Amino acid sequence: MAKSPKKYDVVIVGGGPAGLSAGIYTARARLSSLLVERGAVGGQIINTEWVENYPGFTESISGIDLTEAMHKQATKFGLETLVAEVTGIKIVGKQKVVQTSQGDFTAKAVIIASGSERQKLGVPGEAVFTGKGVSYCATCDGPFFRDKAVAVVGGGNAAITEAIELTKFASKITVIHRRDELRATKILQEKAFAEKKIEILWDSVVEEIAGDPFVNKVTVMNVKTKKKTDLEVAGVFMSVGFKPNTGYLKGIVKLDDIGTVIINEKMETSVPGIFAAGDIRSSSIRQIIAAAGDGAVAAIGAEKYIKG
Ligand SMILES: Cc1cc2nc3c(=O)[nH]c(=O)nc-3n(C[C@H](O)[C@H](O)[C@H](O)COP(=O)(O)OP(=O)(O)OC[C@H]3O[C@@H](n4cnc5c(N)ncnc54)[C@H](O)[C@@H]3O)c2cc1C
Repeated sequence: MAKSPKKYDVVIVGGGPAGLSAGIYTARARLSSLLVERGAVGGQIINTEWVENYPGFTESISGIDLTEAMHKQATKFGLETLVAEVTGIKIVGKQKVVQTSQGDFTAKAVIIASGSERQKLGVPGEAVFTGKGVSYCATCDGPFFRDKAVAVVGGGNAAITEAIELTKFASKITVIHRRDELRATKILQEKAFAEKKIEILWDSVVEEIAGDPFVNKVTVMNVKTKKKTDLEVAGVFMSVGFKPNTGYLKGIVKLDDIGTVIINEKMETSVPGIFAAGDIRSSSIRQIIAAAGDGAVAAIGAEKYIKG
């Protein structure tokens, strides 16, 4: 006879700041809670050495220290953690069956906190210098580049917003864009064109990022002339796309046109008893503090839902 799935009050998908914060709240509310994480607990932030904008730390804290502390705090209150990949969610009446690579689990409520991934460019030097000058977030890392020259790769709204954000800190921002016009909205384009610190390198792609031990050069190639140029920069901000981790959710909860989960102000999705928190939810500002806040809102919502 097939083994019946283990039952929990709440199953949380993803062990980043949103999932960990949700776990602290659900476990403290004495709800039996399982967090399922497919990789290392901590989420996107675990490879970041300096987090300077999470309240409570006068000196910067590394992403791993911050999220390890969150995990210990949640575990202390009784959160269980399973390393497994969630592959689907089935709705059976009021129950949700969370399907994972380590078997199925039944939950009264599910909190989706599986985050997102920033698209990589895949050029030589990108991986080696990530955290050493290569960044995927101007809001997070902009202040580290005060009075330095930096490059932004991309031409959409996110890239141009990042370039404008960086004018507060960097001495010069070169936007490297593979086409001869931007995809960003006209208003953003006008702002960027009016900004003296921003220069746009049209029809150009990044060939290589180099440095020792921090980024000091990016080699770009003009796609029309094939001419290569070296730019002396201390930072390269990648803004070439963003991919929410929603593969296992298709056809279950409503997603918006960029693939993030549609929620209301209570973090409720289109399915009663399924909540979403953090980078994966629509209109997220994609910051740790916001993810942690969402996790708390979702957990309190889950508790109310379970208690009816
Ligand atoms: C390089 C970098 C630096 C950053 N620096 C800062 C900063 O200084 N300050 C700041 O506020 N923000 C920063 N951010 C943004 C911040 O990391 C995110 O906003 C935050 O991590 C979002 O938390 P989350 O819990 O929503 O998602 P994530 O951190 O993305 O966590 C989601 C987790 O879910 C897991 N997962 C995904 N799919 C599945 C599945 N099917 N089954 C099981 N598990 C799954 C993933 O492995 C991951 O661990 C940075 C981001 C990056 C990439």
